[in-house]
Amino acid sequence: MAAKNISLLGSTGSIGKNVLEVVRQFPGRFQIVGLAAGRNIELLRNQIESFNPEVVSIADETLAGDLIQSLPAGWGDKIVTGQEGTKKVATVPKAEMVVSAIVGAAGLLPTLAAIKAGKDIALANKETLVMAGALVMQAVKDYKVRMLPVDSEHNAIAQALAAGRREEVNRLILTASGGPFINLSEKELWGVTPSQALNHPNWDMGNKISIDSATLMNKGLEVIEAKWLFDMEIEDIEVLIHPQSIVHSMVEFIDGSVISQMGIPDMRIPIAYALSYPERLRLGLDRLNLPQRKNLEFHRPDFNRFPALKLAYQVCKKGGTLPAVLNGANEIAVEAFLNSKIRFPEIALVVSETVTRIEQVKSSNLEAIISADLAARVQAESIVESLHIKYQQKTGQEGTHA
Ligand code: MG
Repeated sequence: MAAKNISLLGSTGSIGKNVLEVVRQFPGRFQIVGLAAGRNIELLRNQIESFNPEVVSIADETLAGDLIQSLPAGWGDKIVTGQEGTKKVATVPKAEMVVSAIVGAAGLLPTLAAIKAGKDIALANKETLVMAGALVMQAVKDYKVRMLPVDSEHNAIAQALAAGRREEVNRLILTASGGPFINLSEKELWGVTPSQALNHPNWDMGNKISIDSATLMNKGLEVIEAKWLFDMEIEDIEVLIHPQSIVHSMVEFIDGSVISQMGIPDMRIPIAYALSYPERLRLGLDRLNLPQRKNLEFHRPDFNRFPALKLAYQVCKKGGTLPAVLNGANEIAVEAFLNSKIRFPEIALVVSETVTRIEQVKSSNLEAIISADLAARVQAESIVESLHIKYQQKTGQEGTHA
């Protein structure tokens, strides 16, 4: 069997690195033909040397210059830059599958380009579906490509759905670890620092998604992602806090059967499933040792302490460009929290205030979505600034309050 040619968007991020580990483990099965990264040229150079792709994209010309200098002669023609460069990697003719693992809204356009070029998609970038779910899923149909979820919850649901027919599904149950602050009081949440928020109990993830996990916005985005991916009503998608991260999600069928996918929390499992579907690979990871794990707990999320999740449900219900507004505002708010400009509960505050201020656009064509994203960012920035100034005045401090 010939190796499957894969182009990887977001190769130096947490998902990207795990994808390359799986590829490295099965050299005859997968071949990397394209790599797209942002600014980490050190790691990207190592990846180029190991996987010898046909095309590589990097954020800008300066970085490209540095990268080319550090590579053997002949690489100059293969390095491309900017948005156009990412698009090139997403549509490289040889690729059969594109792994979409860029963080945030930046993933949307290259993913869409890959679909339109007829590539199957392994989707880790949930923002693509949060922002433009209707449009993206229509493109998946029109261009007859397959979209396989890498997000562990959605991957679990995709696996559980295989146990019945689509019309036999009652509801989806997404599990959430709850992140590092699930047991803190409302008051305590005002005092948490970025480094505490980045310290996830079960999963090793990038900064953006770690903060989103701590606010539960990640679960909110995942509910929207699930709605589009599995064509469900938002009312039929439930979230349960499950701190052990062993049950990765569940599907309830009409006869009352609930099918779950379980496993140790390791992203290589959903990644390998998406890359090799419909076959499974012998990954050789630690087995799930249930007696050692003792109790598996499940409880309902607290919408008061974690309002971001509730907000995501409301925004998804309203639809149009509002989910793109939610997402854009959240990206700005997370960045501001990481830079110690706002405090933890203010992340959800910035997002909800932005959603309130921006008028909802019913249409959800690509132009409307992109301008809603931009408008949300501008609005969120100004809300961040006013919160920051207010806080400085209150404490009489200069600069940060970390
Ligand atoms: Mg997830």
